[in-house]
Amino acid sequence: MNDDTGLRDFIDRHGRLFVLTGAGCSTGSGIPDYRDAEGQWKRAQPMTFQAFMGGHRARQRYWARSLIGWRSFGRVRPNRTHEALARLEAQGRSEMLLTQNVDRLHQAAGSRAVVDLHGRLDRVRCMGCEARFPREGVQEWLVALNPSWATREAERAPDGDADLDGADFGGFDVPPCPRCGGVLKPDVVFFGETVPAERVDAARRALERSDAMLVVGSSLMVFSGFRFVQAAARAGLPIAAVNLGRTRADDLLTLKVERPCAEALSFLL
Ligand SMILES: [Zn+2]
Repeated sequence: MNDDTGLRDFIDRHGRLFVLTGAGCSTGSGIPDYRDAEGQWKRAQPMTFQAFMGGHRARQRYWARSLIGWRSFGRVRPNRTHEALARLEAQGRSEMLLTQNVDRLHQAAGSRAVVDLHGRLDRVRCMGCEARFPREGVQEWLVALNPSWATREAERAPDGDADLDGADFGGFDVPPCPRCGGVLKPDVVFFGETVPAERVDAARRALERSDAMLVVGSSLMVFSGFRFVQAAARAGLPIAAVNLGRTRADDLLTLKVERPCAEALSFLL
């Protein structure tokens, strides 16, 4: 039995799938991922919550890179992987789609029952008064305050970031919350930050209703995603994964498909 038949059978046999997705779903949309086939970091580790909240200089660096990165990130479109998973939901076969991605491309492709485990990059949150602002509007504030940065070019990096190593961020003007003057932070879960409990609970309840788990495009190196695979394994659910390269859960998998996500799921379209 080859991988293709195996995955098709797996999906045919289980009508209430709990789907967990990661960066591998979005590389086909031009968003780079963090890790190589061995699950190791390809680049400098992303900014931590502690560094971001701990200092103005870290926030200058973050928002300068984000100003440039957003220009392309804000325009990305879903690809055939997102479309295939939206189709799976439309067929009534997907109990929930839990994504580690912050790009909202599953929703853009038509998936409805989605939990954004790590938040969403198209929104900005005030850490003082909890107000939320659309990222697109914050882009206008950033550009108005820093016109000379708006035309700079840099290579695209994961999560709407841009590679600007060696630049001097000292003169970058970071906008405060217009309501309370507090610190603005993208509404995503940074490394070192806790995932909100209500998101985890919603996903756990969906997992309890499911009869199998399907992992798509994740090496599961981040514990917040991996723990759902552990929970599925403890509950005795069969687990299939589509991922190029090693995953942290290889020894828990019923079926492993090492092919590009869009190719492996193309039978759904
Ligand atoms: Zn505020």
